Amino acid sequence: MTLLPAKFGIYGGQFVPETLMPALIELEEAFVSAQNDAAFQEEFNRLMASFVGRPTPLTYAKRLSEKLGGAQIYLKREDLAHTGAHKINNALGQALLVKRMGKRRIVAETGAGQHGVASATAAALLGLECVVYMGVVDIARQEPNVFRMKLLGAEVQPVTSGTQTLKDAINEAIRDWVTNVRDTHYLLGSALGPHPYPTIVREFQSVIGTEAREQVMMEVGHLPDTVIACVGGGSNAIGIFSGFVKDDGVELIGVEAGGNGIASGKHAARFGDPSKARVGVIHGTRTYVLQDEDGQIAETHSVSAGLDYAAVGPEHAMMRDNERAFYTSATDEEALDAFQTLCHTEGIIPALESSHAVAEVIKRAPTMRKDQVILVNLSGRGDKDLNTVIKEMRI
Ligand SMILES: *Cc1c(COP(=O)(O)O)cnc(C)c1O
Repeated sequence: MTLLPAKFGIYGGQFVPETLMPALIELEEAFVSAQNDAAFQEEFNRLMASFVGRPTPLTYAKRLSEKLGGAQIYLKREDLAHTGAHKINNALGQALLVKRMGKRRIVAETGAGQHGVASATAAALLGLECVVYMGVVDIARQEPNVFRMKLLGAEVQPVTSGTQTLKDAINEAIRDWVTNVRDTHYLLGSALGPHPYPTIVREFQSVIGTEAREQVMMEVGHLPDTVIACVGGGSNAIGIFSGFVKDDGVELIGVEAGGNGIASGKHAARFGDPSKARVGVIHGTRTYVLQDEDGQIAETHSVSAGLDYAAVGPEHAMMRDNERAFYTSATDEEALDAFQTLCHTEGIIPALESSHAVAEVIKRAPTMRKDQVILVNLSGRGDKDLNTVIKEMRI
């Protein structure tokens, strides 16, 4: 029996080698005791305020709302958090748990490098050793983040197995964890993996939803009609959704990476492609996974590295089945258009991941009344994406 529920309906669970079970139990115990420990909560909140810069603002997107001519649009500004995205909330929370467990070393995986940077940052702040596994293909295309991690004192381990990208980096990080589990914590970057990770990540990211709900109530005087967030593994989305999940009238919308379009097969829309999306077990959890006919993990594509993953967090799989949330996708082209629109109308350069959420706002706001409100999670800033955008847009 686990202390907290290990499953989300039929999804989630703990599909790991027996050698890792003690580490998962230890992590769950540390998390539960931390949640009931006022001193831990105080330290987490203090770091969120003094280091991350929370609460992040809520910004009324006046010119975008006027341009679209429908609903009023509000942006939750995770792009203004330290290191430029929401990932730091979870990285710091888990790093505090590492200290609580008396461990001294963290391993992490990274695709685009954002979670690696957040992990290296948290490790530097709290004096932990940090090793980040990264595929050599990703190392080549994300050079600035590799430098950042090294500057922050982390060791970047190149991964040459498989497709030399994120899923192979995850395998290597898990291998290291299994070998060194006594003094090492695996700092997982999204609402994925075996229990208790999806729950822990949601709780550390729920700060987004808690703040946003209060801010909208203060500024608008009532709840938003619709909350929109992009969904890679699902951590920024579950973080903002958690603030509104009990408010039945609030519609929750997750936006996946539509890549070159669902029909092209080149995408990462786990919920959007009935021909490839099946329930399976990946990296310790049961959830929707894009698979080929043999059940092998399918190749995915997105212009935004943070959404380019074959599986989605198990809680989203449940919320999709029970229709508490709805999932759609935006193509690369729609995301790039939305990116440029937000730059021009609001003076904000969003991450390409977040641009997928903005693309859905652009589709939806004109169909809504002017007294309705959309809250969109701007999960990160776009500085990291400038090379990609310049190449794609030929500007
Ligand atoms: C990593 C990342 C994402 C995707 O991850 P989730 O766990 O789905 O939130 C989205 N936006 C930004 C800016 C990211 O860095």
